Amino acid sequence: MKIYDTRTKTKKILRGKNIKMFVCGPTVYDWSHIGHARTYVFYDFFVKYLRRKKQVTYIQNITDIDDKIINRAKESKISPLQLARQWEKEYMKDMATLKITAVDRYERATDHIPEIISQTERLIEKGYAYQISDGIYYDVSKFKRYGQLSGRTNLKEGDSVSRVDHNKEKHQPADFCLWKLSKEKPYWPSPWGLGRPGWHIEDTAISEKYFGSSYDIHGGARDLIFPHHEAEVAQMEAITGKTPFVRFWVHTGFLTVEGAKMSKSLKNFITIREVNSSPRLLRYYLLRAHYRSPLDFHPRLLKEAENDLHKIDEFWNHPDGLKTKLYEEKFYQALDDDLNTPRALAILFQMIKEGNKKKLSNKKFLQEIDQFFNFLEPEKQIIPEEIKKLNKKRNEYREIRQWSKADEIREKIEKMGYEIKDTHQGGVVRKVITSYNHRNE
Ligand code: AMP
Repeated sequence: MKIYDTRTKTKKILRGKNIKMFVCGPTVYDWSHIGHARTYVFYDFFVKYLRRKKQVTYIQNITDIDDKIINRAKESKISPLQLARQWEKEYMKDMATLKITAVDRYERATDHIPEIISQTERLIEKGYAYQISDGIYYDVSKFKRYGQLSGRTNLKEGDSVSRVDHNKEKHQPADFCLWKLSKEKPYWPSPWGLGRPGWHIEDTAISEKYFGSSYDIHGGARDLIFPHHEAEVAQMEAITGKTPFVRFWVHTGFLTVEGAKMSKSLKNFITIREVNSSPRLLRYYLLRAHYRSPLDFHPRLLKEAENDLHKIDEFWNHPDGLKTKLYEEKFYQALDDDLNTPRALAILFQMIKEGNKKKLSNKKFLQEIDQFFNFLEPEKQIIPEEIKKLNKKRNEYREIRQWSKADEIREKIEKMGYEIKDTHQGGVVRKVITSYNHRNE
């Protein structure tokens, strides 16, 4: 299969049977929003898809030490590490509801302090790092290939800039911190004094420990290309002298709201919990767009996605017998071409349309592809007794043609978050899954 690589700007064939993959995980200090969900659902799907044919070892780091964590801990009057552990738990719960199960190891930054110190020492020894008053910094002018991943050496709008290191003594503005000297807890002893790791170093320290000096795929959203991933290349290639450090750099597009990146700082975010009345729906919504394109979040589009799920559910309910070989071939061709989910899903829905017309299904194929999609299988609907009784009453009114009474009950049912589909066998209720309260609306 072919995957797009950000560094060479081309789609390349992913060779090899054993794939090592690292994805930048969250900074744990707050609720995860659906922008995070987009990125993590995509990599989960990607790894599960690869595992049909290859062995994949998938590591994600957890940033559990960071200025944002420290500041939030001060406000909450608990220790930064306690705060980080609490939010890590919430993150794991969100991941579980989204059926994100492909990660083999979650590795915390603070469990890798010796590896971080060792990398910093080696960078100093090789002449790539220097010490100033508040820490050890990487000198980007010493690394001639700086800029090879992103094609630039300066910040631009849209970069993840939350952790730019300011110090007037830096040799040039782009230099970044490897080890921050600090007497504020949490700190760890180091050859340079008490302190904590800089931002970019935890990823290379973790990946070197488990994968060695180079590996196959590194992922994250596109805001991390510069400076974060560029800095990782500079660190690791300076240490090993080998290039490329990573064979494929894969970057997801942003989840946006009216065109703007969903982010905590813009306060336009919707947490995973807020939309989580149906994780299945959210997972489908996020995988509908191609992973490199921006994807706007809008209740209208969520409703559209919900209607698609109803078509899938209808398809499951028919007896097997639909011939799907031709669809299957085209479907896999689309996914093998840089994971083109919109094309693959269009083919799937052509198949479903034919199946629903002929009242025939192919559950074996659906089960096979749901190994990586994880949104096809219908969720179990538990309809409360009260709603069932109201629905029965409404059906009785309809039989005796008391339409206005029947309509009154329909309204009541809808207010309770359920909708009715009238069939030959009478009204059937189902839960409306797109109802969520967006606090900005
Ligand atoms: P953070 O916790 O902010 O470091 O982000 C964790 C991961 O989510 C990183 O890979 C980010 O690039 C990604 N991410 C953050 N915001 C968005 C967004 N709006 N759309 C897609 N991915 C995002």
